[in-house]
Amino acid sequence: MDLDINGLSKARRVVVKVGTSNLTHPNGRMHLGHMEQLVRQLCDLAGGGREVVLVTSAAIAAGMGRLEMTERPPGLAEKQALAAIGQGWLMQSYERLFAEYGVTVAQVLLTREDLEDPERRANAAETMRLLLRWKVVPIVNENDTVANEEIRVGDNDTLSARVADLVTADLLIILSDVDGLYPADPRENRELKPLEAVEELTAEIWRAAGGSGSANGTGGMRTKLAAAEICLARGIPMVIASGQRQGVLAEVVSGHRIPGTLFAPRANKRGVTRDE
Ligand code: GLU
Repeated sequence: MDLDINGLSKARRVVVKVGTSNLTHPNGRMHLGHMEQLVRQLCDLAGGGREVVLVTSAAIAAGMGRLEMTERPPGLAEKQALAAIGQGWLMQSYERLFAEYGVTVAQVLLTREDLEDPERRANAAETMRLLLRWKVVPIVNENDTVANEEIRVGDNDTLSARVADLVTADLLIILSDVDGLYPADPRENRELKPLEAVEELTAEIWRAAGGSGSANGTGGMRTKLAAAEICLARGIPMVIASGQRQGVLAEVVSGHRIPGTLFAPRANKRGVTRDE
């Protein structure tokens, strides 16, 4: 039997989120090798006929790298200024790498307001629709430079789920430095394996997500579950997998085996249940 878990192989419009920890060295410098691998995989998805949206973090880390700062400053103003330095550099790097494969990219910077105010949301949706029609890969980040506490989403896991909803994606893949959601802290028990599939965010699942995150990023498992909550409600399958795994994107969209944790909605966004 040709297994296609949750119809993932048929996902036409795919949003991929990559975190700071995947794109930077532990000292905060950009990891060019990881970026290159990611871009090659995204271009393969696009080459195979899928529409691809990238939600990327690491503007702040890239800004830190440019200024040779080794510790993420706690203040919002400093982070905003660093993002202004790093975002341009980040885009320039992506542009150069995507251009090697003949793929055009576009920068899309959003805040929560843009996704919630009906008129701004409709504008953003229309822009994304056109970019995808033109076979351009939108590269999305939060507009950190202007986003204060009131108007920002705050973390790119949640942002990626909101973007997946905005473009009515068929799949969201969150690439992380861990290979899925573990039933308990894997650093305390090395025997543990990530959960294969989650259909409902029970109290037990939230407990499993615990707290924490890496030193250079914003999200931890809890923000990933917040993203899953949005995706499950919208009928969009979501996968958490390791960004370090070779060929991870192709493996997910093969639909044969999920190299991580799948958050599987009972019904997809068209209201068709999985068993139909
Ligand atoms: N928007 C932030 C950045 O580009 C990252 C937020 C996050 O990692 O969730 O640095």
